[in-house]
Amino acid sequence: MTKTPDQKNRKTQTLAIHAGEAPDPVTRASAPNIVMSSTFVLDEPVGFSAYDIPEEAPFIYSRWRNPTVQQLEDKMAVLEQAEACRCFASGMAATSAVLFSVLKSGDRLVMSDTNYPGTAELARNNLSRMGVEVVTANFSDLEAVERAVTPETVLVWGETPANPTTRITDIAAVAEITHRQNARLAIDSTFATPIATRPITLGADYVIHSLTKYCCGHGDAMGGAVLGSEENMRSIETDGQIHVGGVISPFNAWLINRGVATLPLRMKVHESNALAVAQFLEAHPRVTKVLYPGLASHPHHDLARKQMDNFSGMLSFQIENGANCAQKMMSTLEVIHYAVSLGHHRSLICWMDTDELMASTYSLSGEQLSAYRDFAGDGVYRLSVGLEDPEDLCEDLSKVLG
Ligand SMILES: *Cc1c(COP(=O)(O)O)cnc(C)c1O
Repeated sequence: MTKTPDQKNRKTQTLAIHAGEAPDPVTRASAPNIVMSSTFVLDEPVGFSAYDIPEEAPFIYSRWRNPTVQQLEDKMAVLEQAEACRCFASGMAATSAVLFSVLKSGDRLVMSDTNYPGTAELARNNLSRMGVEVVTANFSDLEAVERAVTPETVLVWGETPANPTTRITDIAAVAEITHRQNARLAIDSTFATPIATRPITLGADYVIHSLTKYCCGHGDAMGGAVLGSEENMRSIETDGQIHVGGVISPFNAWLINRGVATLPLRMKVHESNALAVAQFLEAHPRVTKVLYPGLASHPHHDLARKQMDNFSGMLSFQIENGANCAQKMMSTLEVIHYAVSLGHHRSLICWMDTDELMASTYSLSGEQLSAYRDFAGDGVYRLSVGLEDPEDLCEDLSKVLG
């Protein structure tokens, strides 16, 4: 297991640059090396089972542990204030590692009723097929969460801010409900990043990131991370990394490590740009609703202020006949790319249609559907506000909105 180095109470901006890294002891290179080697020369015999790797084992094989990947894991652990981190080839590989290492047939999983579509579909389709009982609830309604988390519950899975509504979940309150039933809480914190929220410090047992998004920050490397206690990370390593095998390439880990170094600085600009764009949209006559946790009009603004040190760069908005505008966005926008994904230096926008999402992914009905529609209506444009000049972003949007 990797040990988080002593960080002497250094501040986040310093830690993002220095944590996990040290000058190369042989060459004295200041910047990290990339170790692409898949295997390592041994001085003594080793076992071949993932179950008996000694605590202080040398590097043996890169699916088990790799020095470049470990640098990223150590940096992420320090920023999240978690004991340990394990990195993966994508956010979905990280998500799968938690779901498949914690749950078994007969267990109950309580999951937010709106979240990243890949996660929602994996749980509803694959986990259900393997005998896990999957129950969903509106995670912004604590009474609904309390009703769903029964004594049979083994894992509770939230995402905050949630895709694509930007609904916020009170992590400390859900952790309390979860632990009362001896279950464990996992929080997908991709939209928040460790700069905004550190769920472990609020009682979560696992934090999941798609490193592809803000942590990488430049849209050029995919990766994922799971963080938590050293004890909880042991099965994430054995089952998720070593056996399921979705490990990250050292090259991608190196790129993401470089991205994380500027994460605190980038998040400041993502936030100020998103606020400027959100205010512009809120004042625009064709825009019927703007959902940004940093706006006083957001229904969970107070909770966001309490739980987030940064409101991030993700916002959603509605316009009349929203779906009809997508084609115009694709052909007219010059600065903002019409594309999925988020958290890049480039701004990205895409339409998320409520009926389509219900049919393909969420299948909500009754109270849960109307709570979703309260936020998302017939659909939203999800805008990941990048690092361009906010005036250029507003001008680009003006061309489409008229
Ligand atoms: C993108 C994303 C994922 C999946 O991550 P990949 O790196 O694309 O596999 C999971 N959760 C959230 C909130 C995401 O935005």
